[in-house]
Amino acid sequence: MDTIIVTLSREALPRSGGGEEERTPYPEVLARAGEILRLGGLVAFPTETVYGLGGNALDKEAARKIYAAKGRPSDNPLIVHIADREELDGLVSEVPPMADRLMEAFWPGPMTLILKKKPVIPDETTGGLRTVAVRMPSDPVAAALIRAAKVPIAAPSANLSGRPSPTRAEHVIEDMRGRIEMILDGGPVGIGLESTIIDCTGEEPVILRPGYVSREMLEELFDRVSVDPASVGPTGEGEHPKAPGMKYRHYAPEAALTLFEGESRAVTERIRARVAEDVRNGRRVGIIAADETKTDYPEGIVRSIGSRRNVETVAHNLFAVLREFDDLGVEAIYSESFSPEGIGQAVRNRLTKASGYRIVRVDGPSTYPAE
Ligand code: AMP
Ligand code: MG
Repeated sequence: MDTIIVTLSREALPRSGGGEEERTPYPEVLARAGEILRLGGLVAFPTETVYGLGGNALDKEAARKIYAAKGRPSDNPLIVHIADREELDGLVSEVPPMADRLMEAFWPGPMTLILKKKPVIPDETTGGLRTVAVRMPSDPVAAALIRAAKVPIAAPSANLSGRPSPTRAEHVIEDMRGRIEMILDGGPVGIGLESTIIDCTGEEPVILRPGYVSREMLEELFDRVSVDPASVGPTGEGEHPKAPGMKYRHYAPEAALTLFEGESRAVTERIRARVAEDVRNGRRVGIIAADETKTDYPEGIVRSIGSRRNVETVAHNLFAVLREFDDLGVEAIYSESFSPEGIGQAVRNRLTKASGYRIVRVDGPSTYPAE
């Protein structure tokens, strides 16, 4: 299949969603993209979190095509994207007060809500679940595309299953060219990690996947906020994460990643020793460091993913660096760890999952799998 790739200049775009017709960016391109979606085709597009791979959420064939294009297991449900709050009522059977408060506070934005679905949403979109994940993105291209399509858009991240999520159009082109009808290139995304997923079907909000909207932010709105254990550690035998996708070792580069936790200087020293040994054995290794520590490593391919003083930069660069290490063909990756506050919680979640929970605590015992 020939994939149409269209580059949209960010300067020509309005700053946020904006409802009026005359503010629609690139009207011809978006009309075409909307038509492709309505006819059952797939279009990749930028959002503020990562690039999405969109298809008509109400069309089970489109959902099947999404799974096929990604090579994703079809029991891993898709997030449904809308552009206006009113669309939600057609998709879910109930909007509890906690969901209203969350939408008020964080939509449009990087937050996905789990709600009870109406039958219009096919089982293919929700992986057979009776709930549906819904998000209203703030990115102006995403919002305009959903409006142009005139249908809700099911969109997982636009990467091949198992690869790090795409934060730049080049990543999408690498993974999806030839597999889908169209790619909208809107430049690098803003946040760089996937949305926070919050289950609103129980008594209190439960974070199923951490993201930019942090636990601390939710605690300002609610007395009680829970966190699904699967988002902070490995699931034991017989346990199932509430977000089915969290069971996969995804967000992952091809090389084995080991995460080092503990006091910063001790971490650096330990990584240096591991790298020295690997280099002696002729292995190609990558190091994930911070601006503050990147010059502490004399050997190995060193990449800073941002400043410890600004964890948002770390979130923004993580996936691109994992992909770069894949492209460079490194055989092992050693990563420093970052403060798990605010969006740092999401960074930690992605790094621990990318490592398959291969975590070395420099001042304590290391966790499975053994060092
Ligand atoms: P991605 O499409 O890569 O952003 O991943 C979507 C995530 O949302 C996966 O981890 C899914 O398991 C999760 N998800 C989607 N729908 C639901 C749902 N109804 N209940 C719980 N988690 C969901
Ligand atoms: Mg994904």
